[in-house]
Amino acid sequence: MAQETSRDVGPVVLLGPPGAGKGTQAKRIMEKYMIPQISTGDILRHNVAQGTELGIQAKAIMARGELVPDELMYPMVRERLSRADCKRGYILDGFPRTAGQAGWLDALLEDKFFENSRPTRAWPIVIRLDVDYNQLLLRITGRRSCPTCGRIYNVHFQPPRTDELCDLDGTKLVTRNDDRLEVIQPRLKAYQEQTAPVADYYQRTGRLVAVNGDLPIDEVTQRIFRILEDHHG
Ligand code: AMP
Repeated sequence: MAQETSRDVGPVVLLGPPGAGKGTQAKRIMEKYMIPQISTGDILRHNVAQGTELGIQAKAIMARGELVPDELMYPMVRERLSRADCKRGYILDGFPRTAGQAGWLDALLEDKFFENSRPTRAWPIVIRLDVDYNQLLLRITGRRSCPTCGRIYNVHFQPPRTDELCDLDGTKLVTRNDDRLEVIQPRLKAYQEQTAPVADYYQRTGRLVAVNGDLPIDEVTQRIFRILEDHHG
């Protein structure tokens, strides 16, 4: 799709509820600008699977759907952002989740800015994908995936050719455990409660840009690219 570019992008924070299309858009930003996507949820799940000290401490907390304490999060995030692949920028997904974490990130980036000979830009640009609540419910409850090849469908918007069977290998499609209606409503509520203060924090400092996530996927991508280009114009 979009032409790749190796310009410095700096930190990009993607905010948006489950089902807003963050994963899809992050992948496109990653491909165009060749910067990594950093999902704190993925790093934690990896640590749990590997049985590391961090994983052992985080496991029960994550199973309850609570936030992992900052004293475990901060060293993990600091270590990841100091790696070479983050030099030109990165996309943060799932971090920061509280206003306290947003302030901590700013302080970290400010330090890096002064200590680093080729710093990424000091402040993150924060993009929030806004999607209508009913649309979110349809997107999440309609989501199905193929347990064999991993392909994602949506029974409302991108149905398979044959009812509930994968187009590629004919496997019966499944619904993710946390995509069931009774789980989605608390997930969306938790998102609102946790993330609203993060959005407020960035709004106050003039770094929040909202994008209408109800638009077609390609249109959302174009808007995000334009924001990133303007940011560095
Ligand atoms: P996610 O995949 O982003 O939904 O994250 C899965 C789980 O990892 C969350 O429910 C939290 O327990 C934990 N987690 C991820 N990111 C953070 C964060 N920034 N602060 C605290 N806990 C987090």
